Amino acid sequence: MSESSTAGLSKATLAAQALGRTDPVTKAVVPPLHLATTYLRDPDNAYSSGYVYGRPDNATVRDTEAVIAALEEAPAGALLFASGTAAATACFLALDPGDHLVAPAVMYWALRKWLLTEGKRRGLEVDFVETDRLDRLEAAVRPGRTKLVWLETPSNPLWTITDIAAGAGIAHRAGARLAVDSTCASPYHTRPLALGADIVMHSATKILNGHSDVIGGVLAGAKVDEFWQRLLTIRSGQGGIIGPFEAYLLQRGLKTLYVRAPAQARAAQDLAERLSRHPDVVRVLYPGLPQHPGHAVAARQMENGFGFMLSVQVRGGEAAAIGTAARVGLWKRATSLGGVESLIEHRASIEGPDTPCPPDLLRLSTGIESAEDLYRDLDQALRATHA
Ligand code: PLP
Repeated sequence: MSESSTAGLSKATLAAQALGRTDPVTKAVVPPLHLATTYLRDPDNAYSSGYVYGRPDNATVRDTEAVIAALEEAPAGALLFASGTAAATACFLALDPGDHLVAPAVMYWALRKWLLTEGKRRGLEVDFVETDRLDRLEAAVRPGRTKLVWLETPSNPLWTITDIAAGAGIAHRAGARLAVDSTCASPYHTRPLALGADIVMHSATKILNGHSDVIGGVLAGAKVDEFWQRLLTIRSGQGGIIGPFEAYLLQRGLKTLYVRAPAQARAAQDLAERLSRHPDVVRVLYPGLPQHPGHAVAARQMENGFGFMLSVQVRGGEAAAIGTAARVGLWKRATSLGGVESLIEHRASIEGPDTPCPPDLLRLSTGIESAEDLYRDLDQALRATHA
């Protein structure tokens, strides 16, 4: 693949070859990791390379951004940040004091907390609504005042599904932009920009990198407008950039996204189906199950399956849930998600007293291990807890 001939190629191919980039100097098949913090100025005082200083300019970062922009089909391109949190809060910081923002009642808890504390201190007016209920979303937007509608789908940790295309219609009719945290879908399952979103955000810490060894975040945009320019200014001005080594690792992780994501989604679906028949499980939350309230929208909006995240509510309440997590051997008891190794977490313990998360809920992030091994480990932990 030459860089000029990517048109018509599948996302799997684009990701595997990082858009065909190689090193033009050595012909190395893997482009180098650029660590320099500054670049030579020409004798005539110009910067003919286009690179001036490492904070806004780094070739490894730009290469990785180009791969993500291709996977998201983002005409404006992509901007990498130091974390998913830095990427998301850049969108909030790009608003003006007094602007109104609508966000989901169930969303990544730390971003919700940021909006309730730092966002409010900066004069943002925020309403949290059940965005999966379109009538409630429609009622919450204030035409002319609402500047941003923030969605997260599937939303952490109940995996609530919001209709992105309908959300885009509601936001746009009110004169607002639509941004979607698509971390738990990944570009493999959902393409928010194609569904009408203006911005898609990912914690690249999760399945984009996939190996639990990078903290990063990214925004991909539908168009270069004033808002997008503000995001660029905020990233450079606040210095919330990703390091080149992290960008390099992320580019390597992305090469296998289209192999990892289907395997993880298959395992999640298999586990969800088997666990929903388990005598010690009260409820399984996974959009791939027909009984999940968001299944019909998910089936329309998500491609190639329903993602790698599910939650189970354990019979016996909080103590039984924590006891089950304590007894697993193969699953790793840790926060985070999207890595090749499966993680289990008693979610309410980390979110604190204001959480909408039920106390009996265990959040499961499925990796690429055998689904049979994963099921057997959970089954023995559930049975031992309830013996
Ligand atoms: N969005 C979602 C859905 C997340 O799960 C997370 C982290 O868990 C974030 C955003 C924040 O990402 P980061 O930890 O990279 O700042």
